[in-house]
Amino acid sequence: MPYDPNNIFAKILRGEIPCTKILEDEFSLAFHDAYPKAPVHALVIPKGAYINAQDFHQNASPEEIVGFYRGASKAVDLLGLDKDGYRIISNSGINGGQEVPHYHIHLLGGKKLGPMVEK
Ligand code: AMP
Repeated sequence: MPYDPNNIFAKILRGEIPCTKILEDEFSLAFHDAYPKAPVHALVIPKGAYINAQDFHQNASPEEIVGFYRGASKAVDLLGLDKDGYRIISNSGINGGQEVPHYHIHLLGGKKLGPMVEK
């Protein structure tokens, strides 16, 4: 499946759709999820066109990968998530429930989040 340049996060990266920005640098953009599932719910996306975790981890350059995760770490600091803890989630494909086909991680926190998955 090729990368869809019209997915909603590609539009956010191009500035065609607004977002509530937390940080932006050369390799990453972090913004608040529009439909938060926790008191703090942010998304971090790489600047490059990658569909999911496998695509990003296998095809991005080392600079992009390190830059992306350093950006995510800065977002954790800016959101004050490290003190009480948080969860990183990345959904992939149909079983993972991925809705937007541009690689992203969710940063969730602000309360105890409960079980990792439904039983
Ligand atoms: P996923 O299901 O892992 O693909 O997550 C996609 C996430 O994007 C969901 O948590 C949505 O609430 C969120 N989302 C969808 N549209 C927007 C938007 N325009 N701005 C911010 N977050 C969005």
